Amino acid sequence: MPKRYLCPQCGQNRTHFYLVKKLAQEVRKDPSTGKITWAADEWEEVWAGDTLFLEVKCADCGYLANEKAFT
Ligand SMILES: [Zn+2]
Repeated sequence: MPKRYLCPQCGQNRTHFYLVKKLAQEVRKDPSTGKITWAADEWEEVWAGDTLFLEVKCADCGYLANEKAFT
């Protein structure tokens, strides 16, 4: 089911947005120096349960928030 968006900030834009994904890289650090001792090669998309973590940015006013704020 597609979701309709409306920017809660400007209250005008229903058509033009940026979808913003969060990316995570797993790392291990030395506890005394803070140096990264190992890092995964890939950056992975962040999921909240089975839903992709997604933010939305209004292309008109630049307001950025969780997708929920726009639906
Ligand atoms: Zn807006």
